Amino acid sequence: MVKKKFPEIEQRLFKNVYVCMRCNAKLRTNLKKIATGKVKCRRCGYKFLRLKNKDIKV
Ligand SMILES: [Zn+2]
Repeated sequence: MVKKKFPEIEQRLFKNVYVCMRCNAKLRTNLKKIATGKVKCRRCGYKFLRLKNKDIKV
């Protein structure tokens, strides 16, 4: 009887996934790297990323 979704699994899936704010490419990285500014979008080189979060509406 599994009717509910699994928030833990969803969190794990979305936890370290960031989205480029310019081209919307998805990157998997972690907050430490974001904080040190070492992470850039692989596609366009843009430095500003946001957390991929379902609550954020585009
Ligand atoms: Zn990009």
